[in-house]
Amino acid sequence: MKREFAVIGLGRFGGSICRELSKEGMEVLAIDSDEDKINEFKNIASHAVIADSTDEASLKELGIKNIDHVIVAIGDNIQASILTTVILHDLGIKRITVKAQNDYHEKILNKIGANHVVHPERDMGKRIAHSIISNNILDY
Ligand code: ATP
Repeated sequence: MKREFAVIGLGRFGGSICRELSKEGMEVLAIDSDEDKINEFKNIASHAVIADSTDEASLKELGIKNIDHVIVAIGDNIQASILTTVILHDLGIKRITVKAQNDYHEKILNKIGANHVVHPERDMGKRIAHSIISNNILDY
């Protein structure tokens, strides 16, 4: 079944999620406040729209309420990430995945309604460390 996703923030992380979901045939609404990013993704995502996700009215206008799963991939601007998450939670979005910048950010996101918090650099570091250990074990 085709599911609907929205990706907010099209940096390396959000951009990669948007590309993969689109490649797998999912409906993706790509949102970024930067026009250049939107131009880059307009032929990749189903819809690509310039909007500031901290503006509740803009998100409502985009019909975000009808989206199954929203991914918030705003990294550097922690305030914008938190505000966006609160708005999405208040709007009743059932699945919200958010990229955390650090442990404090992660704690706050968990408290304000994010269902799934990811910390890509840390999580990938752990995964690679375990993979290195298991490869070494196999090498002996
Ligand atoms: P990555 O490590 O994934 O590359 P990044 O450093 O590119 O992260 P940021 O620059 O913090 O991450 O933000 C990612 C994207 O989010 C940028 O393209 C930026 O324009 C967008 N963005 C930031 N704030 C908002 C906002 N309020 N509304 C919509 N998009 C936003």
